[in-house]
Amino acid sequence: MVLTISVSASKQLNKKIIRVSAFFNEQVGCIKNNIMKRILVTGGAGFIGSHLCERLLNEGNDVICLDNYFTGQKQNIAHLLSNPYFEVVRHDVTAPYFVEVDEIFNLACPASPVHYQYNPIKTVKTSVMGAINMLGLAKRIKAKILQASTSEVYGNPEQHPQKETYWGHVNPIGPRSCYDEGKRCAETLFVNYHEQNNVRIKIIRIFNTYGPRMHPNDGRVVSNFIVQALRGENITMYGTGEQTRSFQYVDDLVEGMIRMMNTGDEIAGPVNIGNPGEFTMLELAEKVIKMTGTSSKIVFEPLPTDDPLQRKPDISLAKKTLDWEPKVNLDEGLARTIAFFKTVVK
Ligand code: NAD
Ligand code: UDP
Repeated sequence: MVLTISVSASKQLNKKIIRVSAFFNEQVGCIKNNIMKRILVTGGAGFIGSHLCERLLNEGNDVICLDNYFTGQKQNIAHLLSNPYFEVVRHDVTAPYFVEVDEIFNLACPASPVHYQYNPIKTVKTSVMGAINMLGLAKRIKAKILQASTSEVYGNPEQHPQKETYWGHVNPIGPRSCYDEGKRCAETLFVNYHEQNNVRIKIIRIFNTYGPRMHPNDGRVVSNFIVQALRGENITMYGTGEQTRSFQYVDDLVEGMIRMMNTGDEIAGPVNIGNPGEFTMLELAEKVIKMTGTSSKIVFEPLPTDDPLQRKPDISLAKKTLDWEPKVNLDEGLARTIAFFKTVVK
């Protein structure tokens, strides 16, 4: 049967089709530009992972959050569960996992020294076997994959600030080595899968990041000091407090992660993502004490073994490659983080 249609009827029909598709596009806004990507975030229920999932969903993507809840919490992602484009999978990255996605952000790994030293063998397995499993998946499904590496690959650095070209100064048998060497090996695996199997990789080296949704018992310095100050407990200063760190607010990191993932295949990294503002732990404690108005006192405790004495990112590469630099300074980020902890600390 041949369907004949007059020119005017054809124009009418076209108008109707345009109206219907405009209605459809309004209802499912993200489909209209064909920008919806399916994205896997391992460690998605953790501090950084939950912010990343939220941002990716807000940008109209379909997000799968994978986590074994070792240090992550369902509470971090509870507000995302009503979004039909958000799925949660309880899984351990040390076991293979298969799913069809366009991109993988590999964040699964405990990040606080207290937590990664709790079961060091498991920490190495998570970094190394987790990387192998996720890279194998990326290879099979031809997905882009980003590794959340760390400034810890520089160890107790002898070069300051740290550039990506610096090979680091890591004790391979110290208490931090399960994390540092695990992450270094993961970088090696990423580079090898890229060179041997053409997997499209992205490596970022994240410097100390803080913000809302850090666990109150996380053990890292920003959350420890704020929680101690809000409870009126002693502020635990390890060592003399002269050691330095450069603290980055979580929103700045998430922006850097997304920009890195969106680079062309020729950009593999590693790229430092951090805030170059450098502070001693004494300066940090003084800020927290002032901003919370606490009567807490600083008490000095021994410096943990191999605790790096200084850390500050050189972010020239991120500026050049990603047109990225942090926007939130420490005072502003601490104010937002203190406001969050006031809602959770009893
Ligand atoms: P986090 O502990 O809050 O998040 C880690 C998440 O990974 C948690 O939800 C945890 O349950 C999950 N996880 C751990 N082991 C797993 C496993 N075997 N299988 C599945 N899930 C597992 O820590 P974070 O600060 O959000 O760190 C996220 C990532 O960023 C980590 O890879 C960390 O090494 C990296 N990083 C963080 C910082 C920082 O300052 N926060 C600095 C450098 C690198
Ligand atoms: N730190 C401290 N008191 C605490 C927790 C940490 O003085 O209650 C110090 C720690 O020794 C280190 C710095 O703060 O010098 C940053 O520690 P964190 O565990 O946050 O991160 P990392 O050492 O992995 O950079």
